[in-house]
Amino acid sequence: METENSIIVNGEKFICYITEEQIQKRISELADEISRDYAGKIPIFIGVLNGSFIFMADLLKKISIESEVDFFKLSSYGDSKISSGQVKMVKDLNCDPNGRDIIIVEDIVDTGLSIKYIEEIFENYHPNSMRVVTLLLKPERLKYEVKIDYIGFKIPSQFVIGYGLDYQQKYRNLPSIYILSE
Ligand code: 5GP
Repeated sequence: METENSIIVNGEKFICYITEEQIQKRISELADEISRDYAGKIPIFIGVLNGSFIFMADLLKKISIESEVDFFKLSSYGDSKISSGQVKMVKDLNCDPNGRDIIIVEDIVDTGLSIKYIEEIFENYHPNSMRVVTLLLKPERLKYEVKIDYIGFKIPSQFVIGYGLDYQQKYRNLPSIYILSE
């Protein structure tokens, strides 16, 4: 069952929380800020799969400077709504990040574990700089001390789906973001 503002998934109700329009407007602002900050440089945007693929595409279309793209894949939540507390690399980088300006692109930062893990991976490289952009951040869920440089939206601790974010691998194609209603 579906209405314009809500969607039922496995008997649970998700409400539209951030519309497609709001997402696109915020991404334009982030892209302008990043393009200004990296003027004269050629950063490599590194997306964290799978969740970031839509955000990455929309962000890159709005970036006005020269840039390159690559992807990581980390093992994620599996099919659960609760973090397993474990992360491992499933797909490594193709680019050489040494000496380069790296921008990690995340769909959502929850506990911060994935970003922490990525920071540790980059200790083996010597990038010129490394920053993180995330579309969503759940500030109350953060467990690890991580620095997030660009944040799209701060959201409450509830589970969200859509715009790249899945529920049991589905619903990534929803153009808006839906939040589990309490
Ligand atoms: P962290 O490592 O920061 O705890 O979690 C990051 C990853 O957990 C995200 O890249 C995403 O795959 C998953 N995640 C965290 N919160 C949510 C959520 O509310 N919805 C969905 N679909 N995935 C989430």
